[in-house]
Amino acid sequence: MLTANEHYKARFGCKMYKASISFARTCPNRDGTKGKGGCIFCSSGGSGEFSSCVEKSITGQIDDAISQVSKKAGPDAGYIAYFQSFTNTYCLPEELADAMDEAVSHPKIKALSIATRPDCLPDEIMEVISEKANQIPVYVELGLQTSSDKTAKLINRCYETSNYDDAVKRLNQAGVNVITHVIFGLPEESEEQMLGSVRHAVNAGTDGIKFTCLYVLKDTVLEQMWRSGEFEVLGREEYFDIVEKALKLLPSDTVIHRLTGDGPKKLLLAPLWTADKRSIINYINRRFAK
Ligand code: SF4
Repeated sequence: MLTANEHYKARFGCKMYKASISFARTCPNRDGTKGKGGCIFCSSGGSGEFSSCVEKSITGQIDDAISQVSKKAGPDAGYIAYFQSFTNTYCLPEELADAMDEAVSHPKIKALSIATRPDCLPDEIMEVISEKANQIPVYVELGLQTSSDKTAKLINRCYETSNYDDAVKRLNQAGVNVITHVIFGLPEESEEQMLGSVRHAVNAGTDGIKFTCLYVLKDTVLEQMWRSGEFEVLGREEYFDIVEKALKLLPSDTVIHRLTGDGPKKLLLAPLWTADKRSIINYINRRFAK
C-alpha cells in the first residue's frame, strides 16, 4: 500500500500539507446546466466546508491555511494549493489560469490539486491545466463516487461514467496526476458494485484514490432518504472490511490519498463514528499498519 505521505516524500522530499482554497462558487449540477440541487449527498458548501473564505484572495487563503498548521508542520514542510469546493474548472480558462498562477507564485506552494467533475474539462481548460503541469506538479481530483450509471442517476451525479474514463485518459496524456474519489455505502449498491468502482478507476488509469464512507449531512436529499429508511449507513467494521478488500485491488503504485473522509461536524447526521477522527486514526493504524 503506497500512502500519500510516502508518495509526497518521494516526489517532493518533504512532508506535504494541503492548503484548502475556495475558488469556485458553484457547480453545473447545482446551477441547472447539468442538474439542479446537486448530488444528493452534497451540502450547500459544495463539499468544501474545510476550505477558507471565498472573499479572500488566493494568497490570503493560502496564508491562513498555512498559519493553521505551520506549528505542527515545521519549517521544512511543503504545501499543495488545494482548490477544493464545488467544481474548480467550471469557469473561464483565464480565470482558472490566473488563480493557478497566483497560487503557484506563493513561495510555500510546491504543487496544485484541483477538485472537479470529469465533464468539466473542455479543451481550453485542459490547455490551461496542461501548461501549468509543465511548470509544477498538478493533481486533478475527480469525483467518480461510483462506476455504476444506475447509481449515478440515483445520486443525481448528472454525468456518465464514460465522461470519467475520457477525462482520466486526457489528464494522463497531459502529465497530470489523477486522484479518483470513490464512495462506499451509496444507496442500493452491493459490496461487489463498490469494489467494481475501484476496479473501474484502476482500469481507467487513475494514479491515486480517495475512499469515503457515505455520510449523511443536514439539509440534503440524502437526509430525507435516510430518515425515511430508504437505506442504512455503514458501520465502522463493515466499511473498513470493504476498504480492506478494495486495497487488494490496487496496483502497488496506486497512491492511497485517504481511507475515509470526515464530514463537517455541525452538519453530520450519520454515521457518527466518522466524526471521531482520533479513534478512526487509531483504528486504521491498528488494522492497516504495515
Ligand atoms: S458535483 Fe461536486 S460540488 Fe457539485 S453537487 Fe456534486 S459533489 Fe457537490
